[in-house]
Amino acid sequence: MQRKLAIAVHGGAGTWQPERSQKGLEGVRKAAEKGFEILRNGGSALDSVTGAVAVLEDEGAFNAGYGSSLNIEGEIEMEASIMDGKTLQAGAVGLLKDIKNPVRLARIVMEKTDHVFVVGEGAEKLAKIYDMERRNPITELRLKYYEQQKRALLDGKFELPKLSELIKSHPEIFELETVGAVAIDKNGNVAAATSTGGFPLKLPGRIGDSPLIGCGTYADNQAGACSATGIGEIAIRLVLAKTVCNYMENGKTAQEAAEMAINLVNKRLSSTYNSMGLIAVDTYGRVGAAHNSPNLCWAYLTSDMKEPMVSLTAKIAK
Ligand code: ASP
Repeated sequence: MQRKLAIAVHGGAGTWQPERSQKGLEGVRKAAEKGFEILRNGGSALDSVTGAVAVLEDEGAFNAGYGSSLNIEGEIEMEASIMDGKTLQAGAVGLLKDIKNPVRLARIVMEKTDHVFVVGEGAEKLAKIYDMERRNPITELRLKYYEQQKRALLDGKFELPKLSELIKSHPEIFELETVGAVAIDKNGNVAAATSTGGFPLKLPGRIGDSPLIGCGTYADNQAGACSATGIGEIAIRLVLAKTVCNYMENGKTAQEAAEMAINLVNKRLSSTYNSMGLIAVDTYGRVGAAHNSPNLCWAYLTSDMKEPMVSLTAKIAK
């Protein structure tokens, strides 16, 4: 089978309200086009996922970079990770307040340090050394959502442990909208990256799946690449991105692997709120996506297509 160039990106699982979905779909289209342009010009999968995720972080339509969700104290704590399937090198950052593109700082951790995961003040110091661009990530929309959530909380209308019921009654304020990308380049190298503001109203210091290698992000040239979105605690408990890669390494297509992993979530963690979405690419450049959330905002583009496929649900012919 001939290998294709391919990129897939997501702008988060959850429920996409009609009034906002257009902006989300435009954002994932733009990111898929950017990532694919890099691949078509001979660039690496790593450059492709970095470029695509940076577009999504700049868009203001997603819960990553500009537009990140606020934690329960009204503070920003962004996270991101990136992985190179050729070398299995990875970089991740967490607890970032105002870095313009967290994915670029994750890449610095991967390429310029001996570590994989650097958070908080340490990440700040690294950002200073490398002169990273800054930006206030708080948008009016996120502030509005935060105020609504906080008011409801203070009014005793909901308790955090009852997240499942809460999300059912207020789906609009729990749009997850984390972003991610997976790609394969002309040399057959794969890469994955994920970036998020984290779960809305999270406790300060909470780290989700997005910056955790194996949970939110994984890439291995012998298997493929995967980026996850949804309830971070679910992806962490099932090491979900690596699980998808394991399925691909054992011969499953990207689509089969993504579906199997969502089935695993449904089977093993059915008693808790378990909304998840996954995108993947295998070593032939076949793209896959699956979710058990109401929506998955995503796009993909391969070398045998003219235009990106852009959708709020995952349906790919096998
Ligand atoms: N996975 C992210 C987290 O739990 C949220 C998301 O995917 O939108 O932090």
